[in-house]
Amino acid sequence: MNEFSYARPADIDAALRAGAATGAKYLGAGTNLLDLMKGGVERPVRLVDVTRLPLSEIAPLPGGGLRIGATAANSDTANHPLVRKNYPLLSEALLAGASPQLRNMATVGGNLLQRTRCHYFYEPAFPACNKRDPGSGCAAREGRNRIHAILGASEQCIATHPSDMAVALAALDAVVEVRGPRGTRRIAIDGFHRLPGTTPQRDTNLEAGELVTAVELPPDRLAAASHYLKVRDRASYAFALVSVAAALDVQDGTIRDARIALGGVAHKPWRAREAEAALRGARPGAEAFRAAGAASVAGARAYRDNAFKVELAQRAVARALEVASGSA
Ligand code: SF4
Repeated sequence: MNEFSYARPADIDAALRAGAATGAKYLGAGTNLLDLMKGGVERPVRLVDVTRLPLSEIAPLPGGGLRIGATAANSDTANHPLVRKNYPLLSEALLAGASPQLRNMATVGGNLLQRTRCHYFYEPAFPACNKRDPGSGCAAREGRNRIHAILGASEQCIATHPSDMAVALAALDAVVEVRGPRGTRRIAIDGFHRLPGTTPQRDTNLEAGELVTAVELPPDRLAAASHYLKVRDRASYAFALVSVAAALDVQDGTIRDARIALGGVAHKPWRAREAEAALRGARPGAEAFRAAGAASVAGARAYRDNAFKVELAQRAVARALEVASGSA
């Protein structure tokens, strides 16, 4: 691990000043960042600990909806009465992630910013990784790529985003509030994470020095019929091979609205808008759910080891919709 300085400011302005330095990184619980530092993948020269900032509150928004502070713990968020009641999809997704010990420590902001679990990214002994070392190549394209992307990948990178929480946030149309040297910005979740394109080293559209301060959720009309389904190699403490956040608004036997987001299939939570459009106006049932599954993977491209994900994603979407609709 490289040498670094450490600061633990008590207010946001002081944190932003400290975080503006070249090579500075904000530190939440450190459940991902410290691993990356130990492996030599991340080499910050300054850590700005944000855990003492007044950013852990979870509170209703005046016009409806919910504001979740960036340093709220994943377990506190998952178990908050308003999250359980109004956003059960988010609660389910959070509880599907990591382990109880990690959820007690990990923060909402850190969860959003965690980095891919591509094996090659974590191991500098493999020189080819465009995300770790831009221009070096991508070992995963011709290597072991069972856990990698089938949607939205590029020649430069086929990594997936590992968060469960972010998949639920994508389905819930969350907004991420950030503060930085140039003030406060609100970024729709769909525009927060990036596809790899030619710059896979950038996971998000955060600018230098910007700090995630909160996540805001609009009122959710689909909470009554939602489900988060995670398919993984073992029952707990494993990242998703494929996950699905699904929600339906069914009135008079017709689907009025639908939300579908997938995890484990792309460099960012993948909102399946074509599948949602296919569901609107349809009658809920196996036929419509199978069609939505097929639409969810439109344009999918598999690599040597991950072709199974194409069918798995279709089946997972259909199953999540079935459970959400109460017909499972
Ligand atoms: Fe690196 Fe992305 Fe390729 Fe993995 S998939 S080796 S993170 S460039």
